[in-house]
Amino acid sequence: MRQATVYIDSEALQYNLNRVKQLAPTAKIVSMVKANAYGHGVKDCLAALSETDAFGVACLEEALEIRELGFQQPITLIEGIFSADEMTAVIENNIEVVVHHQVQLDWLHAHRQAYIAKNLKVWVKLNSGMNRLGFKVSEIIDVIHALKAEGFTCVLAMHFANADAENHPLNEQQKNQFLQVKAACAPIMASCCNSAAIFKWPELNFDFVRPGIMLYGASPFADKSINELDIKPVMTFSAEIIALNHIEQGESVGYGSTFVADTAMDIAIVSIGYGDGYPRAFPKQNYVAINEKPTRVIGRVAMDMIAIDVTGLDAALGTEVELWGKHRLVDDVADANGTIGYELLCRMSARPVRKKI
Ligand SMILES: *Cc1c(COP(=O)(O)O)cnc(C)c1O
Repeated sequence: MRQATVYIDSEALQYNLNRVKQLAPTAKIVSMVKANAYGHGVKDCLAALSETDAFGVACLEEALEIRELGFQQPITLIEGIFSADEMTAVIENNIEVVVHHQVQLDWLHAHRQAYIAKNLKVWVKLNSGMNRLGFKVSEIIDVIHALKAEGFTCVLAMHFANADAENHPLNEQQKNQFLQVKAACAPIMASCCNSAAIFKWPELNFDFVRPGIMLYGASPFADKSINELDIKPVMTFSAEIIALNHIEQGESVGYGSTFVADTAMDIAIVSIGYGDGYPRAFPKQNYVAINEKPTRVIGRVAMDMIAIDVTGLDAALGTEVELWGKHRLVDDVADANGTIGYELLCRMSARPVRKKI
């Protein structure tokens, strides 16, 4: 059988969840498991996240998958619902919505009694300068007062555009607007911290924190490694050596013959490619790990295979190669690929076999 495997380390996930608890001891934890738990597989991850207070997902379909798997924790739809007809399933399945524009308020209003009877909270989104979703400061205070007057329990919610940046001026603006609205609507529950903000601003933890990437053991910061943050990689993406070749100086490897050996060398072919979710374009030199040591990827990544340099290494047919995991960090692969760990994790394909360890 072709070996391309995604191992999910439940203990690492629990460790990272505990890190959130240490950093935000008084807040409830809404574990973000959108996009199939950042590509890790909802089923395995939810079992390991049993200590979380709630889950956050991007759409009703993702929420229903969680309910079908039998998990009963509160779930928040972070973009709310996309059409009026979704409200029935939302209420039936005890799912909470974000509201970020007037139409969603109308839909909520039409189901007011059933929603309130189920004790579901409404997450009211402030647009404090990211300019994706939400009501502006000038609108949101009235929106919240009206919802409260109707009997809804509200959570003021906001998302930072630059929580990963040290000194971005927008951070202050967003914080100030959030605090201003929070004060004007008091008493109200509040939530504005993703992973980066959980690490940086303990004073903003408030009632609910919303960790995503840190749970999976990748860094939300370009300039801070997971070791500095004390979190552990959850996913190990690996494949096996399926062929070994010796090539002479001047010989090339792979499509386009982009790699030409400048000396005689031993290469190995590994059963992984962009069909598995391994990225193809590498503006910088990329590496994999064999027996915990880095070795370079050479030539182009193909759909099902890559070539690596195994000169002087202990490499045989069947030797396991780590594409990313504990020895070759996904953040470093992402950097070589000109992207972020989030993207590589989320775009895993369905082809690799998934195993829980
Ligand atoms: C995805 C998401 C998060 C989690 O962000 P991370 O950077 O992965 O921690 C938090 N809040 C909202 C609204 C999100 O969409």
